[in-house]
Amino acid sequence: MAEEAPKPEKLAQVDYRPPGRDWRDPAVELRKGTFCYSAAPKHLEYLGLPNPRPWQPSDADWKLPADWKQIILAGMKDRLERFRSFRLFMDICVRCGACADKCHFYIGSGDPKNMPVLRAELMRSVYRRYFTAAGRLLGPLAGGRELTEDVVKEWFYYFYQCTECRRCSVFCPFGIDTAEVTMMGRELLTLVGCNINWILEPVANSYRTGNHLGIQPHALKDSLDFAVGELEEMTGIRVEAPIGKKGAEILYVIPSAETFGTPHYYTLLGSLLLFHAIGLDYTFSAYASEGGNFGLFTSHEMMKRLNAKIYAEARRLGVKWILGGECGHMWRVVHQYMDTMNGPADFLEEPVSPVTGTRFEHARSTKMVHICEFTADLIRNGKLRLDPSRNDHWSATFHDSCNPARSMGLIEEPRFILRSVMNRFHEMPENTIKERTFCCGSGSGLGTDENFEMRMRGGFPRANAVRHVRDKFGVNLVACVCAIDKATLPPLLEYWVPGVSVAGVHELVGNALVVEGEKERTTDLRGEPTGAGARAAETPAHE
Ligand code: SF4
Ligand code: SF4
Repeated sequence: MAEEAPKPEKLAQVDYRPPGRDWRDPAVELRKGTFCYSAAPKHLEYLGLPNPRPWQPSDADWKLPADWKQIILAGMKDRLERFRSFRLFMDICVRCGACADKCHFYIGSGDPKNMPVLRAELMRSVYRRYFTAAGRLLGPLAGGRELTEDVVKEWFYYFYQCTECRRCSVFCPFGIDTAEVTMMGRELLTLVGCNINWILEPVANSYRTGNHLGIQPHALKDSLDFAVGELEEMTGIRVEAPIGKKGAEILYVIPSAETFGTPHYYTLLGSLLLFHAIGLDYTFSAYASEGGNFGLFTSHEMMKRLNAKIYAEARRLGVKWILGGECGHMWRVVHQYMDTMNGPADFLEEPVSPVTGTRFEHARSTKMVHICEFTADLIRNGKLRLDPSRNDHWSATFHDSCNPARSMGLIEEPRFILRSVMNRFHEMPENTIKERTFCCGSGSGLGTDENFEMRMRGGFPRANAVRHVRDKFGVNLVACVCAIDKATLPPLLEYWVPGVSVAGVHELVGNALVVEGEKERTTDLRGEPTGAGARAAETPAHE
C-alpha cells in the first residue's frame, strides 16, 4: 500500500475549500488508502462481540443486524445516562470554531468533517434528533439528523480518522474532549459489529496470551534471554531479566513491542541496563506482558478488563508497586480511568524509589509510576553516572506522545533526562510540543498499511515540525516515549523527512549510562559506532 501512496509533494497540496454539498449529507467516499479494514470475524467471536461476519467498509452492504438502529439508539441512551461527560459534550458546544483548525487530520486532509467541532457534530445531530424535545419535534430545523445506514458509514469513516489524541480539547474554552465523543462513536459502532482488525486482533491476542503480539511465555523468556545476551556482548555486563518473580519489590510493565520490534527493543536494552546499574528488585510478567490497552479504542468494558490484568498480576506476585515503561495509551488508561474502573489499588503500597527514597505521591491511588519519572528522580539525586558524549552521534528532538503529555502531564521529565544524557537536543516549535503536541497520525489503532495515505496526511503537521529542526539544527533523531510512535514515526519521517531516526528515551539513557564493570563501549545499544563523527550531527549544543 505504501508504494501506491501519492508522492509527498502531491499530498502536501491540501485543498481547504469546503465541498459544495451540505455537511448533513452523510455519504462518504471510502477511498483506498484512507480507511482501515474490518475486524476478522474470528476476533469478534473470540471476544464475544456482536455480529461477527465477513465484510469490508468498501462493501455496499455492511451486513448490519436487522435491528441495528434500535441497538445504536439504545446504546446511546444507556451511555448518555452512564457518562455525564458524554451528555455534557453533546449539549454545550457553542460552535465557536476554536478547535476547527487544531486537528492534524483536518490540517493534513482539508476535509471539514475532520474539524473536531464537525466530527462531534456528526454524533450531536443524531443526539438532537432522538434525545432532545426540539429535535424530536422539529428534526433538521433543530439541528437533528436521522440515523441511517449512511450515517453509520460516515461515523465509521470519521471516528476512525480521529486518533483520540485530545489536541482539540486543549483549545476548547469549554474543555470539550472530542476524543471522548470518538470513543463513544466507536463503542456504538462496536455494538453492531463495525470495528477494525488492527484493534481487535491485538485485543484478542491480549485476552489469549496477555499481549498484543500473541507472544507466549516461552517466547517472552527467549526474547528477554536474547536481550540479556546482546547486552553482555555490547557492554560486558550480565544483567538479569526475571519473569514472574514472586515477592519482587516492583512489577515492570512494558509494551510488548519492546521484546520484538525495533527501535522499541533498544529501549528495553536501556532499561535492563539501568535496572542492573541501580540493583533494582523487579520482575517482568508473562501474564501482564502488555502495557498497551486497545480497549481504549474499543469500549470502556474492554479497557477495564485489559487494565485489570496488570493489577491482578501485581496482587498475585506480591509486589509493592508497579513501574510502567514507555507506553502511550497505557498511561491514559491508568491516569484517567483506572481509579474508577479498577481502583484504588489499596493492596499495593504508595510507590517509593528504593534508590532515592522519593515518595511518588501522585501515584498514591494507581500505585504506578512512569519510568521517566523514576529515571528523572535518579538523575536529579545524582544516582547515575552518565557520559552524554556517547550520544554525540545523535542530534535529537523530543516528540511529546499525546497520551503521556496531555493525559498525564509528562512534559518535563523526558526533557530533563534527554538534556542529561546527550549534548545535542533541540525543541520543535512551541505550538507543536508539550500540551499542544501534534499526534503521529497513526494512534488509537490507525497505524495500518491500508490506511497509509490518511496516516501520512494526519502525521503531516508533526513531520513538518521535525523538518524544521532537521533543516535548522541538523536534528537526526526523534526521541519519544510511546510504542505506537516508535512503530509509526519511522515510516512517517521516511515519507516526509528522510534521514531522521526514532528512539526511545531509555535507549539514550542506556547509551550514556556508565555501569560499574563494563568494558570499553565503542557502540551504542544498536551496535552502531558512537561519537560525533559517526553520524552527520555537527550541530550546535543545546539551544
Ligand atoms: S482528538 Fe485529536 S484526532 Fe480527534 S478530533 Fe481532536 S485533534 Fe482531531
Ligand atoms: S472549541 Fe469547543 S465550543 Fe468551540 S466549536 Fe470546538 S468543541 Fe465547540
